[in-house]
Amino acid sequence: MPKKKVAIYTATGCRSCETSILDIHYQVQRLNRMVDVVFWPYVLGSQLDDVDALDSIDVCFYAGAIRTETDRRMAEKLRDTSRHMVALGACAAFGGMPALANLSVTDSAPQEAIGEPTDPVAAPTPGEFEPHVKSLTQVVPADYVVPGCPPTQPLVWAAIQALVPEAGSDSHLAFAFSRLPKLVAEAMASGVLPPRGTIFGGDKAVCASCSRVKEEKRFKTVLRPYQKYEATGRCLLEQGLVCQGIATREGCGGLCTAEGIPCRGCFGKTEAVFDPGAKMVSAISSTFEPETPEEIQALTDQFIDLTGTFYRYAFPTQCALQRNRSIETQK
Ligand code: SF4
Ligand code: SF4
Ligand code: SF4
Repeated sequence: MPKKKVAIYTATGCRSCETSILDIHYQVQRLNRMVDVVFWPYVLGSQLDDVDALDSIDVCFYAGAIRTETDRRMAEKLRDTSRHMVALGACAAFGGMPALANLSVTDSAPQEAIGEPTDPVAAPTPGEFEPHVKSLTQVVPADYVVPGCPPTQPLVWAAIQALVPEAGSDSHLAFAFSRLPKLVAEAMASGVLPPRGTIFGGDKAVCASCSRVKEEKRFKTVLRPYQKYEATGRCLLEQGLVCQGIATREGCGGLCTAEGIPCRGCFGKTEAVFDPGAKMVSAISSTFEPETPEEIQALTDQFIDLTGTFYRYAFPTQCALQRNRSIETQK
């Protein structure tokens, strides 16, 4: 059977999603048996125009947000050429941190804000910026999503195994059946592709896989992670650390919370949550310790940068107000 052709690309992003592919370590031999990587600028030095010579790609892993005309052109070209398009990481799936630029850029091109480029070769021309940063999924249809910032190595490897026809090893299947949706694990076991639209993450919230003990949720004060290292195993949120595990899709196994770091929501919201920011405001405010209006006001004043906190990874796609706006923009 011929090897599957794979393309890997990062648009506007930090390339750590691609690095998570490199993190497969010893699995690289199996990967080499399974696929031919035909386009990968970061590692193979492929030129962007090389994509025009590719007539078919089986699986494209596209990381990064759509910020420039080049990002959009590559997304459209790779979508046209690929049987399966995978949004790899929070930027491609939800907009990611680059999309927080939408907070300050509205109708004018960002170039007006940062000035003309002094070196027209090294810097993009003004026309190359899109008016708003978008996720890949807002620009072209994506068949699968691998969430995370960056996605964890086991998730990336699970996605590769599920999308190319080689059954996973026993250890990887054990991981998949314990952490991923049943359909994904079954795909890895059988070689049958998971249904289009599959998100390579869990169905529940991070809280479900967090080992921390929930006692009495009384929110007294807002703490930053550096202000309190929590080693006792008690729920971080009820101690004042803004942990978004309640609203965030599981799949990482509570990677951050296990180390005393609050979840920042990089897997995006769960299906059951309509708007992650609203969910967090509701969850936190319902457990406020202060009771008088003055005390409540003093506590709410401690929350700074609400948008950057609650929509850090998914501002254009999961904030209800932005979702409506992007639908209007597309009309
Ligand atoms: S999702 Fe995170 S790791 Fe991946 S490109 Fe975006 S910022 Fe980087
Ligand atoms: S809120 Fe955070 S620390 Fe508390 S149980 Fe949920 S994920 Fe764990
Ligand atoms: S705990 Fe939250 S922020 Fe950390 S990897 Fe998991 S989903 Fe991402």
